[in-house]
Amino acid sequence: MSRIPLIAGNWKMHKTGPEAVETARDLAQLCSDIQDIEVMIAPTFLSLPLVAASIEDTSVKIGAQNLYFEKQGAFTGEVSADMIKAAGAQYVIIGHSERRQYFDETDSSVCKKINSAIKSGLKPILCIGETESQRADEKTFLILDKQVSDGLKGFGLDELAHLVLAYEPVWAIGTGKTASVDQVRQVHQYLRSSLEKLFSKDFSNQTRILYGGSVNPENAKDLMGIEDVDGALVGGASLDANEFINIIKYNK
Ligand code: PEP
Repeated sequence: MSRIPLIAGNWKMHKTGPEAVETARDLAQLCSDIQDIEVMIAPTFLSLPLVAASIEDTSVKIGAQNLYFEKQGAFTGEVSADMIKAAGAQYVIIGHSERRQYFDETDSSVCKKINSAIKSGLKPILCIGETESQRADEKTFLILDKQVSDGLKGFGLDELAHLVLAYEPVWAIGTGKTASVDQVRQVHQYLRSSLEKLFSKDFSNQTRILYGGSVNPENAKDLMGIEDVDGALVGGASLDANEFINIIKYNK
């Protein structure tokens, strides 16, 4: 079964609205000849509708970096899945390690957020990954098992049809330390077989598993060439359209 690679840019808390629109337009222009690869950018909530409107006729898709799982109500400062969808997004990143680390995101809130994303027709990108000390303690697979099974608890196969999984070792995010090809291969193979055990072979074969953690134009070809890697979630190197395009065109 063929899986179309997804190269997703997480812009985190960077760029004002006009800056985000400018980068998005530059990127969309650079992507005009891209085929067989999906490209997505996730600007801040404030920039999202501006960016979506500015590149709506292009192939570049839009994602949000988070959501709140309630539909609406007295939740000051939060944004719902319906609002994100209405603003022009197709994807939403859920459970990013920075949200787990700084904003008390748990596997249980991740699960609620995935539910809310699915109900609103957003494609969830579930981020999972071990810290440096968990890897040193040989707990990587234990941690990933928990993040996957608790984050996806209670969903049926039809609900998860558009799920994307992103393996992002915490120690490799924003640090310039990339996991080695062998480390990435081992984890992605493991995740593929976990999805089969938890759900089904077809589901496992159809679900994209991205790698994230200091991906750049120099290492993209090696990382994206690994059999069970179906694209990348890119932070720092997605902020500049000319740098990001060299990751997106890793095969050229
Ligand atoms: C990320 O934020 O998901 C990420 C992988 O960041 P970076 O590429 O900067 O390591």
